[in-house]
Amino acid sequence: MFFLPSPLELLDISHLHHRGIKVWLKRDDLIHPQVSGNKWRKLKYYLSEDSQTSIVSFGGAYSNHLHALAYACHYFQRKVHAIVRADFIDPANQTLADCIAFGMTVECVDRKTYRKRYEPEYLSWLKSRFPESLIISEGGYGELGFKGVADLINEINLDFSHLVCPVGSGTTLAGIIRQLKPKQIAIGVAALANSGYLVSEIDTILEQSQKIAGIKPYWELWQDNHFGGFGKTSPELLKFIEEFYFRYQIILDPIYTGKMMFALFSAIDEGRMPENSKVIALHTGGLQGWRGFTQRGLLPDNYFLTNLD
Ligand SMILES: *Cc1c(COP(=O)(O)O)cnc(C)c1O
Repeated sequence: MFFLPSPLELLDISHLHHRGIKVWLKRDDLIHPQVSGNKWRKLKYYLSEDSQTSIVSFGGAYSNHLHALAYACHYFQRKVHAIVRADFIDPANQTLADCIAFGMTVECVDRKTYRKRYEPEYLSWLKSRFPESLIISEGGYGELGFKGVADLINEINLDFSHLVCPVGSGTTLAGIIRQLKPKQIAIGVAALANSGYLVSEIDTILEQSQKIAGIKPYWELWQDNHFGGFGKTSPELLKFIEEFYFRYQIILDPIYTGKMMFALFSAIDEGRMPENSKVIALHTGGLQGWRGFTQRGLLPDNYFLTNLD
């Protein structure tokens, strides 16, 4: 049911000023039609632990994480409850409708409460409400999440120089960095504005990891390709996603992978990547995220049909 290892596809980038650079797309978007790409990787070790306990987790109203978690819990027959940052459950919200249909129970909290999601006091209060349950941080952030992501590196039989991925919570990037060989470089492209805090956060995770003790891994966070912030887009970005689709017949999502590929192609074309680099770009999936755009009227309902099909 999970399509693993996910395929690696060489992209023809002859339209760019490529200077011998090669780009492969690691198609984690193909892992599963419901459980989007990196979300499965981040969740799998949480779900294989203690198969009886129920799960509590967090996310925004269009969260790919909650959507993937709801489906996976449905599949593995685990009880799951979500704390959602939203005023109410909008009946038009297909992400939450799917979650509920998969059996997830959903509770809306305001932004102020949602901000407490890492506070020990709030977490112990949740624990008392849901005794015996496993609380998974937003986005699967944590040791088991990093470990699940690291497995994707072992699937790649190719001596690459760079691995590029989109960044939300930083879990995927941290998991990748920890698994790289010396001289391999990880590049994260932030999907949100003001992502500088992630640099020290990821550094802390890396320091805590025993495996890389003594080796300083090389990685970068590109912070200027967020197109105005999380979930924000622009005609330029949408045009890029459309052209990408016409060129490769591969759909990118507007929140993460569209911004990542835009940043990578610009860097190559503008000579900011070293000659002859062998670059793997990680398609983390996230295609269900398009629905939040059409539902909120940010794109016409038939955007996919008219522009992407
Ligand atoms: C959640 C998500 C990300 C971000 O992953 P993090 O591990 O939170 O940084 C990237 N791409 C897609 C498609 C996602 O759904």
